[in-house]
Amino acid sequence: MPAPQGRDTIAAIATAPGAGGVGIVRLSGPASRAIAEGICARRLLPRLAVHARFRDDDGHTLDDGIVLWFAAPASYTGEDVVELQAHGSPVVLAQLLQRCVRLGARPARPGEFTERAFLEGKLDLAQAEAVADLISAGSQAAARAARRSLDGEFSRRVDALVEQLTQLRMYVEAALDFPDEDIDFLAAPELGDRLRATRESLAVLVREAGRGKRLMDGLHVVIIGAPNVGKSSLLNALADEDRAIVSDIAGTTRDLLRETLDLEGVLLTLVDTAGLRDAPDSIEAEGIRRARAELQRADVVLAVLDDDDAKLPADLAGEIPEGARVLWLHNKADLRSHASGVVQIDHFSVSARTSLGLDKLRARLRELAGGEGGGSFSARARHLDALAQARICLDRASACLDANQAELAAEELRQAQLALGQITGVMDADTLLGRIFSGFCIGK
Ligand code: GDP
Repeated sequence: MPAPQGRDTIAAIATAPGAGGVGIVRLSGPASRAIAEGICARRLLPRLAVHARFRDDDGHTLDDGIVLWFAAPASYTGEDVVELQAHGSPVVLAQLLQRCVRLGARPARPGEFTERAFLEGKLDLAQAEAVADLISAGSQAAARAARRSLDGEFSRRVDALVEQLTQLRMYVEAALDFPDEDIDFLAAPELGDRLRATRESLAVLVREAGRGKRLMDGLHVVIIGAPNVGKSSLLNALADEDRAIVSDIAGTTRDLLRETLDLEGVLLTLVDTAGLRDAPDSIEAEGIRRARAELQRADVVLAVLDDDDAKLPADLAGEIPEGARVLWLHNKADLRSHASGVVQIDHFSVSARTSLGLDKLRARLRELAGGEGGGSFSARARHLDALAQARICLDRASACLDANQAELAAEELRQAQLALGQITGVMDADTLLGRIFSGFCIGK
């Protein structure tokens, strides 16, 4: 099959950092093979790795290595792709790239190889984004999730939902197209059942995508509590290093302390707050303002108390955002001689000093971060926005159907489908594509 026409040929250095000596210059586009044959001064056969000398314009050897040609369409981008595998010298790789450019290639923009793979139908948009997410994954669980999205798991779920929506639309559109028929399409019980099932599927997908995003971003955990209950000490105990300044004087944690932990494969950002109290001085007040902002975006709040039956000060309790999961930490358990009376779910008897109970807490955090149970796929804020939009449209469609407004319902269903289409890129504006692929690294 001939190489796709109408596109230029791009080239980039695509080297894994610290790859131990190998550097790759990758080409994609119709002229890739000719350029590579010019550099290697030999003919190439598809998918046959050969050793070659890479020559400069004057025939001098720049380096030697492996050259590999993937003929279109059986390549990453769907175009003719060539990889020149050289020694990982940045100087040599730059020279090789320049030689490619002199022979007709253009330096690739970040993410342009993957963008072409998308444009050639090799990947849908969610899969293409998963390539970047896989590369930037900060933990094993995140990498696994990105790998699942790259394999199309998320896209398949979205497509299944789109299919459900299509079926729904058929019913509603039929009611519009054949208003005089005997059958009352809108009153058909199947329509209500399908609508309910679709909304349920969407709700499940929203939850799972939220989990996927948390896995990628890491869980945002904020520690709050009255002064001196041991917030900084707990952060240190969890982070296993002396990051926060621990002191007996109330109010010493003036700034927000932040630790990113890798909890056996799950990323976790821990933020220790200055006590959310009315502060006498301005530095403390600034700390409080920032703590409030952190709390607003918390996935999990660790509310620290210094006894089994202590309570969070009322002003602090009032700051916990709706929807955040609260774990109650009854700290300083080492000072209590009696057995812990803490038996409620999400209450933990812990000691920052002796690390008592911290393993259970870690396990719970890991669970909340989505690292347990497997099966998650990666997701981004863009996907969650699209799902939320689809949800709003479906809610409205449901209300319209209840009010017998078939035309409005049909439009809402169409809008829901459009919103979902944005996830996999079925119907996307170029501007959106530009935004997404510019977040990639060069050579991908
Ligand atoms: P914060 O103001 O809530 O951040 O509290 P700190 O972490 O600064 O701790 C206040 C005091 O309590 C310090 O003297 C700590 O050594 C002490 N402390 C913290 N956690 C524990 C604990 O688990 N057991 C005991 N015995 N003391 C603790």
